[in-house]
Amino acid sequence: MKIAVIGTGYVGLVSGTCFAETGNTVTCVDINEAKINKLNSGKLPIYEPGLEKLFLRNQKEGRLHFTTSLIEGIADAKIIMLALPTPPGEDGSADLKYILGVADDLGKIISEYVVIIDKSTVPVGTAEKVHAALAKNAKVDFDVVSNPEFLREGVAVEDFMKPDRVVIGTTSERAKKIINDLYLPFVRQGNPLIYMDEKSAELTKYAANSFLATKITFMNEIAQLCERFGADVDMVRRGLGSDARIGKRFLFPGIGYGGSCFPKDVQALAKSSAEVNYEFKILDAVMEINEKQKLHLIPKIKAYFNNDLKGKKIAIWGLAFKPNTDDIREAPALIIIDALLNEGAVITAYDPEAMNNVKELVGDKINFAERQYDTLADADALVIATEWSEFRTPDFDNMISLMKNKVIFDGRNLFDLNKMEELGFHYESVGRRPIKQ
Ligand code: NAD
Repeated sequence: MKIAVIGTGYVGLVSGTCFAETGNTVTCVDINEAKINKLNSGKLPIYEPGLEKLFLRNQKEGRLHFTTSLIEGIADAKIIMLALPTPPGEDGSADLKYILGVADDLGKIISEYVVIIDKSTVPVGTAEKVHAALAKNAKVDFDVVSNPEFLREGVAVEDFMKPDRVVIGTTSERAKKIINDLYLPFVRQGNPLIYMDEKSAELTKYAANSFLATKITFMNEIAQLCERFGADVDMVRRGLGSDARIGKRFLFPGIGYGGSCFPKDVQALAKSSAEVNYEFKILDAVMEINEKQKLHLIPKIKAYFNNDLKGKKIAIWGLAFKPNTDDIREAPALIIIDALLNEGAVITAYDPEAMNNVKELVGDKINFAERQYDTLADADALVIATEWSEFRTPDFDNMISLMKNKVIFDGRNLFDLNKMEELGFHYESVGRRPIKQ
């Protein structure tokens, strides 16, 4: 089957590559010329584990193409998939200008029946708007289907190839058949293709992300209580998560969720709710608590240094909003960096994949180290902001020999409290007893 994917970002590139992997011929379209040139020269513009191998293989086999031309990209396509950005507009609602702009263009150029799949995360009612934008000019039949994407950056290929479920919002039997053929290779183990109407599919995506953001936030609130009561959030988490009704996942407290999805999707759902005269109070609380949580470590750091961070050398491990990605959109590390710079601290940061993106953003306001231990030379303290697995069992002796003070503020609860006590670290984390030395 010939497929066009419009928008070649995290979702578009992964989806396009995975569809090529199951034998389809895919053309990915993007307006970013530098990105398309890079892809055409065999290089990936993003870091995503497992993607490079599939990308190179399918490109070599002639099943995966890249272009900046929409007309060229959609030629002969049976399916056109929109994987375009839906960033927050000024009022917090999802900005549909990319989606509706492309829909408008498509209406003028489609020349035979085609299924337009909306893979972007969009507010309820967007499929109707996309339909209307195409219908203004289209001279042929088409269907618009809502097919939200649930992949997680960092494990995107695995998620795409073996999805827990595929949600397909359409009432068109003709579109259903085509989409069924497209997705069958991905659900051979029996995970469901769930068919529903367009609006329900659109809402399902927001409901999923908002629920997960709420779960994380709930645990962050429990962590706050643990700190005040002297309880240990790791213990509470294990006790709580072993209840099958609650489940073990997404119960890890930390310094707030970030990324390109949760923050904008929670905000967009709150905004959509307000538009239909419903005050979704939990979401307002989730957003407020999460913003505060990103700064959770700052008062602890300030208190340790008697409110004087001027000239203090702070090392930061982890910049990406989560491990295994180079994505820094809404990353808590950026908020922490800002707060520390405001206090006059001198920062040296390390991240395995995200440093170039942060360099573009902050320039020479902070230093960057080539290796994690290079951040620690003469450091007054280390702050851990992302739980990359290479930070989990570091060489503590080396750290002790390099650092000026044995002081760690850990936003991801990576280390065992007893071990840190034995090693003589001053160690403060989230929702666990502080080790004060
Ligand atoms: P992204 O910013 O990484 O990629 C979007 C791409 O679209 C960019 O390369 C941009 O240049 C391109 N683009 C913009 N306008 C265009 C146009 N007119 N024609 C062609 N290309 C154009 O975004 P993303 O992270 O892939 O997210 C895309 C959508 O998928 C969003 O709605 C997002 O909420 C949703 N989503 C993202 C994830 C994720 O983990 N990133 C997961 C599920 C759903």
